[in-house]
Amino acid sequence: MNTLLRRRDFIRRSLLGMCLLTIPFPMPAARKQESMKEKMQYDVIIVGGSFAGLAAAMALGRALRKVLVIDSGLPCNRQTPQSHNFLTNDGMAPSDISSRARKEVEKYPGVQFLHGQATQAHPNSQGFEIGTHTGAVYHAKKVLFATGIRDLMPDMDGFAECWGKSVLHCPYCHGYEVRNEKTGVLINSVQELEFVKLLTNWTTDLRLFTHAAFTLSDEQMAILKQRKVEVVQEEMEKLLHTHGQLEEVLMKDQRRYPLRVLYAPRPFEQHCDLPRLLGCEFTDEGYLKTDALQRSSVKGIYACGDNSSRMRTVANAVATGTTAGMMLNKELVLEEF
Ligand SMILES: Cc1cc2nc3c(=O)[nH]c(=O)nc-3n(C[C@H](O)[C@H](O)[C@H](O)COP(=O)(O)OP(=O)(O)OC[C@H]3O[C@@H](n4cnc5c(N)ncnc54)[C@H](O)[C@@H]3O)c2cc1C
Repeated sequence: MNTLLRRRDFIRRSLLGMCLLTIPFPMPAARKQESMKEKMQYDVIIVGGSFAGLAAAMALGRALRKVLVIDSGLPCNRQTPQSHNFLTNDGMAPSDISSRARKEVEKYPGVQFLHGQATQAHPNSQGFEIGTHTGAVYHAKKVLFATGIRDLMPDMDGFAECWGKSVLHCPYCHGYEVRNEKTGVLINSVQELEFVKLLTNWTTDLRLFTHAAFTLSDEQMAILKQRKVEVVQEEMEKLLHTHGQLEEVLMKDQRRYPLRVLYAPRPFEQHCDLPRLLGCEFTDEGYLKTDALQRSSVKGIYACGDNSSRMRTVANAVATGTTAGMMLNKELVLEEF
């Protein structure tokens, strides 16, 4: 009897103990805030999680760093069906390349991802605070901007729809696929004439559209004529296309020029304004100024990829991202000594 009672008592007490173990003790508010802050404290926050940002995240993840990648999911090449000129991924859809890259980076437990937009940035005594569109605030010792650039589309019917499909920015990325096709080139100023010369490498069927934006000298006209580049100086009205595949250029005077492809270098703006708000310097062309180690002009802030380089390729974004990741880790290690 006594033994039975003792056993029951034992079981009751054990169950009570187990319950107490599973019910969390209420945490004082101040401690709770501290713990939240710890959770939101990173070695590096990477703003932009496309090719450049992912490459940096991989280098940092492999260096055992705690990293947050904030990405709004709008890479500049999202309309392009196929990406070229990047070894091991030639001809793949850009989104396939980046989702494969993301899966690889996700293997590293130190790297966390947040889908959203970084909208605020402030320096503080520990490094930086980055705020997002939801009002959440994250803290890091260093910040890397891998935010890319935004191409500015002209106000011309059909242009934006064809962008990345049959209106192209770069012959190294897409020229091989449309070699010797009926090709147009639309440049914004006489300074871009070099781009027209470059295209003669890929096609002998080339027509230059100035859209009445500038005039060419007799000498320039003669050089183009010699290479059989026809010059069309009138204003364009619209691009006629089917699902982004260019068919004809319609001029304001109603003339039509059948084309398979139109190259069009575009002016751009930075995709993200935060580096400017943090005081980073820019080149005259509008790129973030960085040194060979991807450091911006503000201590603790790095930049990589399209936002800081004219060499606009996936390969270059990955290369500069890797460099930034490695150099950020090195800076952190040296500071910890
Ligand atoms: C139409 C087109 C076709 C191209 N084709 C090729 C090709 O065939 N081969 C090739 O090698 N290259 C190609 N390129 C170039 C290549 O796409 C770029 O060099 C490359 O995407 C640059 O990578 P990035 O990471 O620097 O920038 P992006 O890829 O542009 O990525 C920037 C990322 O940062 C995010 N971001 C920006 N601001 C914020 C913010 N405030 N908060 C959170 N996230 C933010 C964006 O949403 C985006 O995901 C092409 C470019 C274009 C425009």
